[in-house]
Amino acid sequence: MCKMQYYAERIKLCKFAKSLWDKRLTLATGGNMAMRVDENRVLTTPTRMSEDKHGILEPEDMVLIDYELHHIEGNGIMTREANIHAYILREIPFVGACIHAHPQYSLIFCAACKPIPHMTETTKEMGDTPVLPWAEAASEKLALICLDHFKSREVLLKNTGGLCAVMPEHGLVAVSRTIEEAFSIIDRVESDAMVSLFSKLL
Ligand SMILES: [Zn+2]
Repeated sequence: MCKMQYYAERIKLCKFAKSLWDKRLTLATGGNMAMRVDENRVLTTPTRMSEDKHGILEPEDMVLIDYELHHIEGNGIMTREANIHAYILREIPFVGACIHAHPQYSLIFCAACKPIPHMTETTKEMGDTPVLPWAEAASEKLALICLDHFKSREVLLKNTGGLCAVMPEHGLVAVSRTIEEAFSIIDRVESDAMVSLFSKLL
């Protein structure tokens, strides 16, 4: 049987999905990732990758979509938050990958609707992680808010290589050129959230 398209990229997304779960950078409440693999072709993690699969996915589970959210190839079901990824990847050519996650310490800031302060040198260029306006999870409005936020910061995005934002009461969204860089941003912002919280004990 022929392998599905973009098989190497599918394997790569499997590794990052597992790391995201293993490092508690996303909890069973959700999370999804996407990378542009061609013009108008976006490879995404399937729905419930955390709830049902605990980050353990097969390459064939990944869902290849286009910018209009058509399911092109993959055994998984498209995530309800695919619109966030598709809009950003369609409208911001610099961005090659996007991760939406629910990291455990960052969620405390998300619940309080507060920015995550820049605490260590690893986020020096990005600075504080700002809070987006509130919108319901998986809504069209939320996808447009995310797009507008990063699109209006395209210059900063190019200077820093990637950016992250807090979705109130929900999670984080990070964009960058590659999935490796987007993952690193989520990890660094989560680290800042942890450091900020624990620093209050000193
Ligand atoms: Zn979510």
